[in-house]
Amino acid sequence: MSAERERRLASGLWQRALASDTLPPFDATWSGLITFGGRGLLIDPGFRDPSDADVLLAWAAARGATDVDRVALTHTHPDHVAGLPALLERLGAVPVHVHPAEIDRLPSGVRGVATGDDRVLPLAGRRVRALHTPGHAPGHLTFAVETDAPEEADANDALFVGDLLTGRGGAWVGLPYGDVDAYLASLARIRARAPARLGPAHGDAIDDPAAALDAAAAHRRDRLEGIVAALATPRTLDELQRELYGEVPPDAERFVRGALLASLASLLRARRIAHVGTDEAGPYQAMPGA
Ligand SMILES: [Zn+2]
Repeated sequence: MSAERERRLASGLWQRALASDTLPPFDATWSGLITFGGRGLLIDPGFRDPSDADVLLAWAAARGATDVDRVALTHTHPDHVAGLPALLERLGAVPVHVHPAEIDRLPSGVRGVATGDDRVLPLAGRRVRALHTPGHAPGHLTFAVETDAPEEADANDALFVGDLLTGRGGAWVGLPYGDVDAYLASLARIRARAPARLGPAHGDAIDDPAAALDAAAAHRRDRLEGIVAALATPRTLDELQRELYGEVPPDAERFVRGALLASLASLLRARRIAHVGTDEAGPYQAMPGA
């Protein structure tokens, strides 16, 4: 794990890592800061220790954001929102922007502002644009900055991508809320913007976004092809999991199972496999000519 705790993505765009209850191999969430003209917007306060709200705000102030007047969430998994109540205790009633698909999943007592695709939030004469990038989570948002000032033009080419990617590759996409087809479409949407730099919420910043986005999409498609190939012989869910993943440690079981079911759902929608059982246990089999 990198010891680096702070990074600058572009002019006015920063990230700060704080310990969180996230999935291995990671142990921290990189919160985002967009700051111009003294104002600031914080993204994904996922830290575990409530006192890290002070650490985050002191750091934001040191980077120029003495007036943090908005919070935005890429999605509502606990490792992205755990610090929200402590942060709002310090900030008061600032807007918390979240996609409508996840607005009912905020920590108790926190009210969100429904922020759908392409919504633009003003920030000191610059614009922060929310892009709906579902797949890992149904209301997953990516945040882009738009500025007209030539000296900050690099901010236009950097994105806060939350869990669309991690510093080590693609994100986990699993049931009940994950959607493989939506995930692939989101990777393609971000790829089409040709960003220069991505700030994921876990792991290192991504300096070659095209390669990382292509690799994540290829990996996902390879996994789908592997399932179709394995289902040349009809198999139950348990058999398929054993064939593809071998022995799975108990703490990883629900993630492996959830990801496998999300892939099966995608292949069923595409009519590349058939489900011949009565419940999710299967068996499943490849369609002729799949
Ligand atoms: Zn997540």
